[in-house]
Amino acid sequence: MSHSFILVINAGSSSVKFALYDIYSFSSFKPLKLLSEGIAELVNSNQANISIKQNSEKTNTNLDLIDGSSSFHSDSLKCIISRLNDTYSLQENLLGIGHRVVHGGNIFSQSVIISDEVLDQIKLCAELAPLHNPANILGIEELQRQFPKTKQTAIFDTAFHQTIPDFAHTYAIPKKWSDEYNIRRYGFHGTSHRYITQQTANYLEKDINEVSIISAHLGNGASVAAINNGQSVDTSMGMTPLEGLVMGTRSGDIDPGIFDYLINKGISPKEINKILNKKSGLLGISELSHDMRTLCQAVQSGNKKARLALEVFCFRAAKYIAAMTISLNKLDALVFTGGIGENSSLVRAMIIKNLSILGFDLNESANVANNLKESLAIQIHSENSRTILIIPTDEEAMIVIDTLELIHAD
Ligand code: ADP
Repeated sequence: MSHSFILVINAGSSSVKFALYDIYSFSSFKPLKLLSEGIAELVNSNQANISIKQNSEKTNTNLDLIDGSSSFHSDSLKCIISRLNDTYSLQENLLGIGHRVVHGGNIFSQSVIISDEVLDQIKLCAELAPLHNPANILGIEELQRQFPKTKQTAIFDTAFHQTIPDFAHTYAIPKKWSDEYNIRRYGFHGTSHRYITQQTANYLEKDINEVSIISAHLGNGASVAAINNGQSVDTSMGMTPLEGLVMGTRSGDIDPGIFDYLINKGISPKEINKILNKKSGLLGISELSHDMRTLCQAVQSGNKKARLALEVFCFRAAKYIAAMTISLNKLDALVFTGGIGENSSLVRAMIIKNLSILGFDLNESANVANNLKESLAIQIHSENSRTILIIPTDEEAMIVIDTLELIHAD
């Protein structure tokens, strides 16, 4: 029997993630069958480690890179494909390949089949995401070499937010800068926010164009989005993923005046940028960890810096959720998702505590029970509260669904 597989690729600057799905028994938004998943990580300038999970068995391989780190993406993808081929005969069974692409600029407002023209446009957007898009492109090019006849798609983190109106995406800087350098709020996590919107619609038994929600994606990266009648109308991330909420290692919003102040203290712009992205956020405040689970444990044992990090994170998230309400005509639900949003009852409780003025109140036992395994969503609000849901996100599933739809429509 021949199968229909979809391969999802997420090529980052120093890691390449993949997931292989069997869509034989696919029906819209039902769980897909995950056959294999894994990650290749750059260990040092000459070596990568590839970890592959298949039939609940995990294997680890050390891979010597032929041309050092410059061949990381292509060498690791070759190795991954050859391993998958041993079991799944991809040349016969692969129906399509979906690539996560970080930045689609102003060009892409939805997922697309990758043509030569699309690839050129993704290259044009690389200026806006210099760490991410070039890696995405290397992934696409390697798989085009390996599967020249297989359709490949690009699913953009930014695309869902292209509906944000100009008064919400325009920065108050000289128009010349905005125009000349394409500076505006683009927003990210769009694939997750769109998936959450669709899942909320399914759960509430409404059409996606009828649901208005606030989606709070709280993971290592974190953003909230206001979704009005199924369309993104505001979000907390901006021109880059650095704006908005406090994150694992990113600062989120800070006064732009701090930049000049630090330069005058002798810190270079490059160093400031690195620290705001990699050493700030939960890690920066706590001086302990970027990981919320570790911080919650430290708070239990009385660590004051960890508590402050947790409080700053929750206060900022609540403030942004409140801000998102002004873009909505109605609010069907506040939805928590992402590693923290799905798993931390303490974070949810601390955020909701600040939102009582807007009519949010938790059912404490539902909040801590958190039994998501079998259900699409769980409700965690009290009787007189607005609706609060937890819905697990699945960006890979969204990529598979888009890829299938695009292939069928082509
Ligand atoms: P990414 O943005 O990298 O995809 P995730 O969405 O996987 O990240 O979220 C990772 C975060 O979720 C980490 O901070 C982790 O500690 C947190 N997390 C996962 N489980 C729990 C838990 N039970 N309690 C608190 N935090 C959790």
